[in-house]
Amino acid sequence: MDNNKFREHAHQLVDWMADYFEEVEDYPVKPDVQPGEILKQLPDEAPVQGESFEAMFQDFKHTIIPGMTHWESPNFMGYFPANKSYPSVLAEMLTATLGAQCMSWLTSPAATELEEQMMEWLRKAIGLPEPFTGVIQSTASTSTLCALLMAREQITDFEVNETGFPKDETFTIYCSSETHSSIEKDVKIAGFGRQNLRKIPVNNKYAMKPKALEEAIREDLENGCKPAAVVATIGTTGSTAIDPLKEIGQICSRYDVFLHVDAAYAGTALLLPEMRWMNEGIEHADSFVFNPHKWMFTNFDCSAFYVQDEALLVRTFEIMPEYLKTPEDQRVKNYRDWGIPLGRRFRALKLWFVIRSFGLDGLRKKIRHHISLSKSLTEEIEQNDDFELMAPVPLNAICFRFHPLYIDDEKKLNELNEKLLNQIQESGKLFLTHTKLDGKYTIRIVMGNTNLEKQHVDNAWKLIRKIAESLIS
Ligand SMILES: *Cc1c(COP(=O)(O)O)cnc(C)c1O
Repeated sequence: MDNNKFREHAHQLVDWMADYFEEVEDYPVKPDVQPGEILKQLPDEAPVQGESFEAMFQDFKHTIIPGMTHWESPNFMGYFPANKSYPSVLAEMLTATLGAQCMSWLTSPAATELEEQMMEWLRKAIGLPEPFTGVIQSTASTSTLCALLMAREQITDFEVNETGFPKDETFTIYCSSETHSSIEKDVKIAGFGRQNLRKIPVNNKYAMKPKALEEAIREDLENGCKPAAVVATIGTTGSTAIDPLKEIGQICSRYDVFLHVDAAYAGTALLLPEMRWMNEGIEHADSFVFNPHKWMFTNFDCSAFYVQDEALLVRTFEIMPEYLKTPEDQRVKNYRDWGIPLGRRFRALKLWFVIRSFGLDGLRKKIRHHISLSKSLTEEIEQNDDFELMAPVPLNAICFRFHPLYIDDEKKLNELNEKLLNQIQESGKLFLTHTKLDGKYTIRIVMGNTNLEKQHVDNAWKLIRKIAESLIS
């Protein structure tokens, strides 16, 4: 492909992209394919001779697109969204074009300094106090791993980095029983051992019980363990429960335990002054993560990771082989020392485009709109005798189940709701996912798609009721 061809095909693709955004609602949100069906259509061997763009683009349209789940569709209301927006997509095109590897200041001064300023814009926009300072990581899982590694080095005075875990010492980590699975994964990777992860019970709102946390820490101390870190969640993945940060923070301060706050999804709502109560007590936290790639219209990947003690973060990760040394090292940020990978994409550009294009008020307006759509549907579910709300709805994720009055057998209800969800998925008209709360099969509906409007929510609710009725008639 030469530059003329590139220009021609790029224009073709942009036309396709704009069409896609316009038409995505008409695609079946979940593809109708069986496992292995796409693989079967792909040649076993890589082509020896180069192929034309036309051939690739045809296959993209006819082989790949029919096998995609359309996260961009406003009918996608499962998991948490990975939402995006026009400015974000445009910036990603530029990032790919520049192809810069932004591991240090020297390898692209503008990328480093833009990242520094974007993290400051965001920090102020969500009301995170100084001296929190941020860096973009790939995911919340990686950010939380960084936090646990910082906690590990802090409690061992950097001994693990040098000689490995001390023998005969057990370090314990705490999170709630509703915490995201990435915490357990990170505890394994960081070398603490999952048996040393204490899952603290939750209250009837699925938020961590601070008293139970304190008891667990005390018990571990009595048994000679060393409590290393607590992970509190703002907006759990199951039901967006909000752990009481202030009380948890006070306990962490009292026992001198590292506190990480996982606000992967709900952090975006901190843009709204009326939601800042969720972050009350944040000054006790050592680190904090939220993903603009979930609910802030910035396409995957973009995870904003903040720490209070920049020196602790850098000392945990810094490595200085000769070939990486540069004359400016003392005066600039080298983000390779702020996380796990050496190589880094230029991710600040899409944040810059998104924040400037929407403006903080534009972002806030969309988020408020999502929360208000969710509030209206919550009321409808509450008023319907055949449906039951399964958890409080502080944001825009509703946990509910179909519960006709005459069925009270829990096992039957679980089966009924599993069937309901399966049929919703099969319809291709709506994509929802589930969780279990107190062992009860719970359907989740999340209102965070960039282009979500009332008619999508109305259609979803209509479809849910229609399929539910057909299951019992
Ligand atoms: C989605 C989510 C994660 C994981 O996020 P990734 O960026 O995909 O690693 C972690 N914690 C919570 C609360 C989440 O909602």
